[in-house]
Amino acid sequence: MMARELQGKYQVTILEAGNGFKPFSLPIHTLAWVRRTGLFLDERMIRLLLPNMLVEKSEEMVLVRGIGVGGTTTLATGNAVRWDGALKDLGIDLEPQFEALYEELPITTHHQKHWTETTKGMYALFADMGLNPMVTPKFLKAEQCVECGHCAIGCPTGAKWDTRALVAQAVRSGAELVTGCRVTNLEISGKAVTGVQAKRHGKGVDFHADLVVLAAGGLGTPVILEHSGIPCEKTLFVDPVLCDAGHIPGIRQNRQILMLFISQQDGYILSPYMDYLSFFFHRDWRYPMEEIASIMIKMADEEAGSADGRHIRKRLTEHDRARMARAVAQSREILARMGVPAERQFLGTLNAGHPGGMLPLTARERETLHHSALPDNLYVADGTILPKAMGNPPILTIMALAKKMAELLRE
Ligand SMILES: Cc1cc2nc3c(=O)[nH]c(=O)nc-3n(C[C@H](O)[C@H](O)[C@H](O)COP(=O)(O)OP(=O)(O)OC[C@H]3O[C@@H](n4cnc5c(N)ncnc54)[C@H](O)[C@@H]3O)c2cc1C
Repeated sequence: MMARELQGKYQVTILEAGNGFKPFSLPIHTLAWVRRTGLFLDERMIRLLLPNMLVEKSEEMVLVRGIGVGGTTTLATGNAVRWDGALKDLGIDLEPQFEALYEELPITTHHQKHWTETTKGMYALFADMGLNPMVTPKFLKAEQCVECGHCAIGCPTGAKWDTRALVAQAVRSGAELVTGCRVTNLEISGKAVTGVQAKRHGKGVDFHADLVVLAAGGLGTPVILEHSGIPCEKTLFVDPVLCDAGHIPGIRQNRQILMLFISQQDGYILSPYMDYLSFFFHRDWRYPMEEIASIMIKMADEEAGSADGRHIRKRLTEHDRARMARAVAQSREILARMGVPAERQFLGTLNAGHPGGMLPLTARERETLHHSALPDNLYVADGTILPKAMGNPPILTIMALAKKMAELLRE
């Protein structure tokens, strides 16, 4: 978003650690066969099948992010949720930016017309239980969608929108895109950044710049800052995810877009979701994919943790555990009402894919969006500056924030 918005006013160079996005590398019907080979023992091996998916581990959970053009949005399920309450509390008004994004991007709930009987039944059950399900707005060209359920492993028809479109626009307007180029640290002279150092094809390269915007994500940006002598806070959040599942022959929940509706609860969401990581790697998930019913719990965690390039330190706190236990009790009740008694339900792998918060914006920065710990000509425009865990999809909110930041920088 920053590159697209700044190109023209500035001459933008985008330094991207990864390459272009490659979808799941085998025909989809081979998923079950791949699992049966038993060769995939560790979640980190998923990269052999999905090269842009980087899986790392903290003491307790599996952390997933996208490396390549479009970042993690290429792996996203396309949820376009506005969640800017914590930013509003700081006095940051993103209303015009959200309005512009709704105008520009293919954000829709029209998928509802194509819901299967399974999805309709689950939605009705959530409603009966007083869980107030809301149809999820999606970054989606609904007319191109074939509802295959493969949103997170590479949409085969291009129906799902992701931020590769913005990169392409920036490049068409004259920005330079350098792929395979991993930024390691900033060059700082006095109170200003003069450029960045990067590794490309095993060699060190320097790029000089008047203005640097870091957007390497909630696990990438803090590492670059720390390597440059700018310490971050140990306030990493990740929105932990746990799926609760049951065996229901004939359910075919996987033959549908992921997360078609969301139920907002106190500090977490519940949503139907086929969890590929658990399907591949969790021994309890041994049933055929079309016979698994799965409810995702995605939770706002306490802001406690860190990433320094060597280790990711992230555990659930006591408060997080209590919240997760409440959510699991609720998902167990849903599955029980779908016909799976609690003793035949199985949990998935604790994982997370919404990292951020290690350089949180405060009310002091509401006018400038420029964190006071940074040199004047250095900005951060990704999940790192979000003040709080959302427990909700962050892409739309991060883009609105970046758009506002770009407007300030153009001025
Ligand atoms: C499976 C999955 C599904 C998700 N679904 C949704 C969803 O439906 N809706 C939603 O809102 N959110 C979703 N998310 C979360 C969302 O995708 C991320 O929170 C969001 O993309 C974060 O944006 P970002 O700009 O902070 O970082 P990223 O999107 O991760 O972008 C960081 C970029 O920086 C690059 N990079 C990293 N390090 C370096 C370096 N040293 N040098 C150069 N480049 C570097 C990366 O390759 C990447 O391109 C999902 C996440 C996962 C894992």
